[in-house]
Amino acid sequence: MEQIASAGGSASPPTAVTPDPSFLRQVEKAGGATISPCFQCVKCSSGCPLTFVMDLLPNQVIRCVQVGLKEEVLRSDTIWLCASCETCTTRCPNGVDIAHLMDTLRQIALRENVTPSQPGIVATHAAFLAEIRARGRVHEMFLVARHKLRTRNWTRDVALGWEMFRRGKLKLLPKGVKGRKWLKERVPRVN
Ligand code: SF4
Ligand code: SF4
Repeated sequence: MEQIASAGGSASPPTAVTPDPSFLRQVEKAGGATISPCFQCVKCSSGCPLTFVMDLLPNQVIRCVQVGLKEEVLRSDTIWLCASCETCTTRCPNGVDIAHLMDTLRQIALRENVTPSQPGIVATHAAFLAEIRARGRVHEMFLVARHKLRTRNWTRDVALGWEMFRRGKLKLLPKGVKGRKWLKERVPRVN
């Protein structure tokens, strides 16, 4: 405490939190995943490539869910920054599907209208899912167009987009995948 007081001038009192004891059950029911076996070994967070931008580490997200810190989890940047690469899921010795958990938390946040701290992140998520529903895979040009239609931010990143196009990183025509009907029935629509 002395250190905090000398560094910041005056230490503010800790903020009160109100745990929601039903949150763990809600998450497990919504995602069909079991996270209770997590014993906080931190192997998931040690392998995650995106912890440098996250406000909660993946193992901290799990702990927060276990103890019912619903507000803290649903408002965290982490659930939106997770790239679903599944490194954490592969590394977990207890078979906890953390990547799937992150997806479940995003869906709960959307359903309960929790506004994420990063503006535009829901638009990116919605554009991504719309692309998957439409073609089964993401076509970058259409993804950008969907995102711009939602955000109305027409000029942002235009120079970057042009540079990517010039280097052949953006293809003009999209390609689909087999089984699109199956995917469409399973991927949720985000309004
Ligand atoms: S690797 Fe598995 S058991 Fe270890 S902290 Fe992460 S979720 Fe929990
Ligand atoms: S799935 Fe998400 S949380 Fe897990 S390692 Fe990848 S980015 Fe990190």
